[in-house]
Amino acid sequence: VRPSDGDERAMLNALFRIKGTEFGRCLAPGLPCTGTPIRAHSVQNAKVLDLLAQDGHVIAPQVRLDAKTGPAIEFALVGRNRATTFAGLCGEHDRSIFAQIETGELDLDNPAHRFLLAYRATYYALHATIASAAQVQSAHRQRSELGLDAKDQPSPAGIAAIEMMITAWMTLRYKLAYDRAFMDQHLTGLEHDLIELDVSAPTVAASTLFSIGLRANQKDIVGVCLTILPMSLTRTVALFSYQPADATQARKDLAHILGSSEGNQKYELSKRLLHSCQNFALAPDFVASWPAKKRATIIEFFSRTALAPDLHFDDPDLLLLK
Ligand SMILES: [Zn+2]
Repeated sequence: VRPSDGDERAMLNALFRIKGTEFGRCLAPGLPCTGTPIRAHSVQNAKVLDLLAQDGHVIAPQVRLDAKTGPAIEFALVGRNRATTFAGLCGEHDRSIFAQIETGELDLDNPAHRFLLAYRATYYALHATIASAAQVQSAHRQRSELGLDAKDQPSPAGIAAIEMMITAWMTLRYKLAYDRAFMDQHLTGLEHDLIELDVSAPTVAASTLFSIGLRANQKDIVGVCLTILPMSLTRTVALFSYQPADATQARKDLAHILGSSEGNQKYELSKRLLHSCQNFALAPDFVASWPAKKRATIIEFFSRTALAPDLHFDDPDLLLLK
């Protein structure tokens, strides 16, 4: 069964019918899957995270809820079996959909492998946006029920809930295009740019989808899937993947990364990652080596740009590669 545009509302409604705030559901394409979601890895654990991990841990961004000061973002040690995982696939679909890149040797020249790396990022992103929207929605409902927000007037909590729902809906539309390609086994239709970086140590891995704007129809994002993988102790790659309709604008927007030279390219890639992405892991010994000022600059930029974009800010401390 292939989803069509008309089914989107029904699909979103079904996805939002959630008890509690922890959203878990297999998001495999086709008929709704009732399999129990596992902790699916968005970044390969055995090979990729292994290059970053120290004593079985990596560093990942975490939201710490503090009753007094509100939520705070920190970079914390996370077990590598938990890092970058999400409850958005059942075990069987996780294995069957991604077998080519999980069990065999990853071949970055193979268009099917490139597709699957980007496809993984759309799963993580859809799960994350639905989970956030569900959380904000439930907070809004509670405020209304407690009489904190008037039911018939727009409140900041209500507007935030609607904005998050729209983000989830647009992410769903974006992933559906990948679902259709996957179900047709048409894995060669994406456009990609691959950057190869010589590094003195592996420091960062990522699997993420971000939007750089809206298409003319105002319903679809101009999306970029970004996968950063340490391939060895001295080589890290960054794969940018686009749907054909988005490629021209994406390449124009990312020209400062794609077209720059070695040192500057590492900086621009790091800055974009901190600016537009949440799902990444860092090497603990690398983070431990940061002076306090670098650590503060990175966390401030990462936290601030999660709420409002600021691509004009520059500070050499944002560098995440070495
Ligand atoms: Zn499933």
